[in-house]
Amino acid sequence: MVCVISVDAHRETVTGLLGNAPVIRLPLASAAGLVLAEDVRAGVSLPPFDNSAMDGYAVRAADVSEVPVTLPVADDIPAGRVDITKLEPGTAHRIMTGAPLPPGADAVVMVEHTDGGVTDVRILRTVVLGAHIRRRGEDVVEGTVALSAGTVLGPAQLGLAAAVGLAEVPVFRPLKVLVVSTGTELVDAPEPLRHGQIYESNSIMLASAIRALGCEAEVVRSVVDDVDEFRSVIEPRLADVDLLVTSGGVSAGAYEVVKDALTGQGVEFRKIAMQPGGPQGCGRWKGVPVVTLPGNPVSVLVSFEAFLRPALLAAMGHTGVDRRKVRARLSEAMTSPAGRRQFRRGFYTPSEGEVTGIVGPRGGPGSHLLASFTQANCLIVLPEDVDSVDQGGEVTVLLL
Ligand code: AMP
Ligand code: MG
Repeated sequence: MVCVISVDAHRETVTGLLGNAPVIRLPLASAAGLVLAEDVRAGVSLPPFDNSAMDGYAVRAADVSEVPVTLPVADDIPAGRVDITKLEPGTAHRIMTGAPLPPGADAVVMVEHTDGGVTDVRILRTVVLGAHIRRRGEDVVEGTVALSAGTVLGPAQLGLAAAVGLAEVPVFRPLKVLVVSTGTELVDAPEPLRHGQIYESNSIMLASAIRALGCEAEVVRSVVDDVDEFRSVIEPRLADVDLLVTSGGVSAGAYEVVKDALTGQGVEFRKIAMQPGGPQGCGRWKGVPVVTLPGNPVSVLVSFEAFLRPALLAAMGHTGVDRRKVRARLSEAMTSPAGRRQFRRGFYTPSEGEVTGIVGPRGGPGSHLLASFTQANCLIVLPEDVDSVDQGGEVTVLLL
C-alpha cells in the first residue's frame, strides 16, 4: 500500500529539495523582482550635497529679514553646476531645484516670492534659516546600509540602488526550470487533431507561471509515453537546469512514463492527501531536483500553487511565499472528500465594510475542467477534516 502524505509535508520536501539559489551580481536592469542576497551600502550620501529644493534665490536669511529688499544677483546656479562659488553677504545667487547651495547661503527664497530678476532681484517675503534647503545625507548617509538582504527589488528599491551609486546588486539567481509535458496523445497546435489526440496545454501554463515568479523556463513539449525516449530526450538537458518539472505519467495506470523512467533513479512517487493533484513525485535525477506533477491541467495548476510556487519563491530568497488568505462565506453548499485537502476554483467578492467576503465555486471538482479556472480569482480550500460546508459557512480562500 502506498502511504499518503500531507500537502504540507510534500510542500516541505519540495522546498527542501530546491535549497537556495546561487548568489550572483546582476546589473540593476536585470534585477527587477529578484531578492537582494546581501546588505548593500550607500556609496554616496543622499542627497550627496546640500542643494536647493526650489527654483529661486540662495540668500542669507539675515539679508532678507526686512522686505521688500533688492539684492544684486551675483551668480546663476543651474542644476549640474559643479564649480563652487561663495555667496557674499548682501547678494543673492539665482538657483534651480537640485543645484548645489553656495557656501555662505543659509536659505532659499522661492522664485514666486520675488520679481524673478536676473541682475538684481526684489525679494518680497522673509525666509527662515534653512528654508528650502535639502541637506546632504538627509535621505541616506554614505556608508550605511541602503537596502538590506532579503529586500525584494521593486521599482523604489532599484531606484534607491541607482541613486546611491550601485550599478550591480547581489541577488539570488533566477532558477532555471525545465518543463516537460508527457503523453503520446499530445499534439501541438496548429497541427490538426486526430480522434484520441488533444492539444498540449500544460507546458505553457507551467512555463508562464514559473516565469511570472522571476524564474527562467525552458520547455520540452510532448514527450511520448516511452521510457527510453523520455530518458534520451530529457537527460542531456539536465546539465543546464536547476529543476526538472514534468506533467503526466505519474498515476496508477500503465504507460506511466515518468514514473517508469524515474522510479529507482532517485525520485520517489507518492500519494498526497489532496484533490486534485493526488499523485506526485519528487527527488533527484542525476543530481538535479525533480518534481513530477500529474497530467490533468487543473491538477497541474493546483500543484504549482501548492508546491512549486512556494518552493521556487523560497529558493530565490522570498519570505512571503504564501498567497494571501482570507475568510469568506460560501454562496452555495460544497462537499469535499474526507481525509483530503480539496482545492476548488472559486470566485471571491469582498463585502463592503466586512471582514469576510463571499465566495462561490467555479466549475466542479473535476481536474480536467480547465475553462472554469479562467473564471476563478481564488482557490477555495476545504480542509482534510471537512466533508461538507453549508451555504453561508466560512471557508479559507487563497487569492490568486
Ligand atoms: P496522465 O497523468 O498522464 O494520465 O494524464 C492525465 C490527463 O491529463 C489525461 O487526460 C491527459 O491526456 C491529460 N494531459 C496530460 N498531459 C497533458 C498536457 N500536457 N496538456 C493537456 N492535457 C494533458
Ligand atoms: Mg499521460
